[in-house]
Amino acid sequence: MAVRGCGARTAAISGEAPWTRVVLHVDMDAFFASVEVLDDPKLSGRAVIVGGSGARGVVASCTYEARAYGVRSAMPSLQAKRLCPEAIFVDGRYSRYAEVSGRLHEIFASVTPLVEPIGLDEAFLDVTGAQNLLGRPELMAGEIRRQVIESLRLDCSVGIGRTKLIAKLASRAAKPRASIRGKEPGAGVVTVGPDEEAAFLRPLPVEALWGVGPATAARLHALGLTTVGDLADVPSSALVHQLGSSPGRRLSELAHGIDRDPVVPGRQAKSIGHEETFPSDVTDRSTLERHAVRMAESVAIQLRASSVRARTVTVKVKSPDLAVVTRSHTLGGGIDTAHSLASVAVALLESVDIGAGVRLLGVAAGGLRDRRAGEQLQFIGVLPTSRGADGDPGGGGGGGGAGSAGGDTAGPGPVDVGAVWERVGSLQEDRREISAAVDSIRERFGAEAVGTAAMVDEGGIVVPRRRGAAWGPADEAS
Ligand SMILES: [Mg+2]
Repeated sequence: MAVRGCGARTAAISGEAPWTRVVLHVDMDAFFASVEVLDDPKLSGRAVIVGGSGARGVVASCTYEARAYGVRSAMPSLQAKRLCPEAIFVDGRYSRYAEVSGRLHEIFASVTPLVEPIGLDEAFLDVTGAQNLLGRPELMAGEIRRQVIESLRLDCSVGIGRTKLIAKLASRAAKPRASIRGKEPGAGVVTVGPDEEAAFLRPLPVEALWGVGPATAARLHALGLTTVGDLADVPSSALVHQLGSSPGRRLSELAHGIDRDPVVPGRQAKSIGHEETFPSDVTDRSTLERHAVRMAESVAIQLRASSVRARTVTVKVKSPDLAVVTRSHTLGGGIDTAHSLASVAVALLESVDIGAGVRLLGVAAGGLRDRRAGEQLQFIGVLPTSRGADGDPGGGGGGGGAGSAGGDTAGPGPVDVGAVWERVGSLQEDRREISAAVDSIRERFGAEAVGTAAMVDEGGIVVPRRRGAAWGPADEAS
């Protein structure tokens, strides 16, 4: 692996194996934690962990200073504290990360429209065609890094390869390293050309390949297969015999660097969700619903930052004995506001027995579609407009109050007709849709009748309870 000649023209001249495609994988370094350090310079150089600090918390992201102690994402916070007692825990701020993510994706879009986002902080870019305009892939990678550093004041690593697999593994190889002295810079950009793929892949552990989780890895290890080279050396039929036809063949191909998965622009995660384990079990339904609203707000911010709308809302409830209940409802159209998501989530929760208490609650949005593709209202002949406050991903702490918050209609500047129409139109669609959805959920799950007052109000959520308590996302955001 090296930063060296690539691009179809170079390869053709030099006689190297051709680059049938050129894929960049861009990945922010310790994204959430780096944003926290950026916003609070006192954290610079410290072991910072973004995640829950409570007994049941989990590490979402951590700085390289924390990684030097063995702390990793998805590790229980208690374990992280044992490894690194001086670590500073910081609560995650999804709206802030989504805001930075939106700016990151603007940088990607300046390089190529063929961007496949993976979560908030990484993406695949197919730059095969962009080479004619922007030059060699290393130039594009360098330009992306320069823009990320200069305009976001954050770091990212870029991998360049002929396939998504190679690009992803190359970006990992380009990452900084954690050491007891703190963060040691990585290469920043790593290119793995077609002729270098085998040498690059062979020493990697089998876990580096997609689809190799702990269970598969254990089976492979038991067979004495620990590296990608080991996998490449056994016949595909042996892997098929062990893992089944489709996974076995796929794994054999990946071990040989064969990955036909295209970069699909705009492809999103199958769902966007937010779940939390509570510090102590929640037994009170109105408390649980408040958490659901808060999580719906977080999900809505991420939906809007990704320019998608969700058709399916799912709630997940884990009880103290770790039994999990999920409830889903699929709508006729897409939604992306906190109030609409929360209305459906709360209605779904009504059908779940929480008598034993709730250890974990999750709210997820699925059936994601590009916001523009799903638009039901067409506005032809509207003046070109710049997006107002509503277009700002995760704009402002209140986020969910997309309904009434927009003061732009009465502002001094020209009225943004498109934005106003879009907002009013979608609000009306949502309200009709959500009311019907809530009714049908109650019918289907036989939930208690809780009155017919509008669930969705322009100020946020109004959930009629027996005592008539009303609350909105902005009040509950912590
Ligand atoms: Mg990352």
